[in-house]
Amino acid sequence: MREGGPELKILLLAGDGIGPEIMAEAEKILAALALPVTLDRALVGGAAYAATGHPLPPETLAKAKVADAILFGAVGDPRFDAVERHLRPEQAILGLRSELGLFANLRPAKLFAGLEDSSALRPEVASAIDLLIVRELNGDVYFGEKGMRTTATGEREGYDIMAYSESEVRRIAHVAFRAAHPDVELSHMYVDNAAMQLVRNPGQFDVVVTGNLFGDILSDQASMCVGSIGLLASASLSEGRQGLYEPIHGSAPDIAGKGIANPLAMILSLAMLLRHSGGDEASAARIESAVAKILADGCRGADLGGSMGTAALGDAVVAALNG
Ligand code: NAD
Repeated sequence: MREGGPELKILLLAGDGIGPEIMAEAEKILAALALPVTLDRALVGGAAYAATGHPLPPETLAKAKVADAILFGAVGDPRFDAVERHLRPEQAILGLRSELGLFANLRPAKLFAGLEDSSALRPEVASAIDLLIVRELNGDVYFGEKGMRTTATGEREGYDIMAYSESEVRRIAHVAFRAAHPDVELSHMYVDNAAMQLVRNPGQFDVVVTGNLFGDILSDQASMCVGSIGLLASASLSEGRQGLYEPIHGSAPDIAGKGIANPLAMILSLAMLLRHSGGDEASAARIESAVAKILADGCRGADLGGSMGTAALGDAVVAALNG
């Protein structure tokens, strides 16, 4: 943790569906590490909408603004699919990203030893995967003008505009180039080719910088190349040290409440939080080694064809941390 500085203030936003289940496991890891952090909690997503009528209540946003880092579970609840668009649970994460200026989403994907046969790809292809997707987070169709209009022939036509300013492109490119180190070899790819290359020869990529929508799609694709969407963590960063850290998956309503969600993406998101916002490389590396160890030892949840539940996987990581 930052030496001599104030305690790291972490806001925990568990959210909906499997969010609270996987957040509980991340909290176990924080407790086991006994780090000097201050924890706060707030409602977000469907849980916040049900309690307050808004998915990102002012109190939650205020707490987020003063936090050094936010650990975020997931939002999305089918009970609220029919509410007005601006009040849907998913608007909470979009609101946090824009209000906090979190424009750079780092999504690392690496094959853990032992998961060669869990990948959707052949083991020799999958084992070469070690890439970072840098996804722009404040622009694109998610924030573009959208609506319905009538064409000249009288037809209804929906539109959803993908727009990027030069400065938005420049700042995300800087993040990606910094992540790629001094001797960078640059190549450009159309997204359809990138999607194909990602399964044909993923080992060719070190850093992929892309827009909001394509980054979302390519990283979900990358997750299955390394075994499961339940393994991919992410950091959403602003210009400063503040960041929001969350698994790349959603609230998984189909498995919520069953105790079978994979908590490892959430736990790896905590590692990213400690590294980027906490400046605590040692604790981040300790968590990542513990996750690698339990996977190498054969610990598997249902998503990887095993039978360990959410809590058992969290306990195994704690045991590996202490071992
Ligand atoms: P999802 O990522 O929630 O689930 C996709 C599939 O992956 C499901 O079969 C699910 O069971 C499985 N899965 C996801 N996480 C898992 C885990 N940790 N362990 C095991 N299996 C896991 O995507 P979806 O079904 O398209 O969306 C569900 C809800 O989540 C929607 O309301 C969507 O809008 C929301 N969503 C939220 C975020 C976010 O909070 N940042 C991101 C994506 C989707």
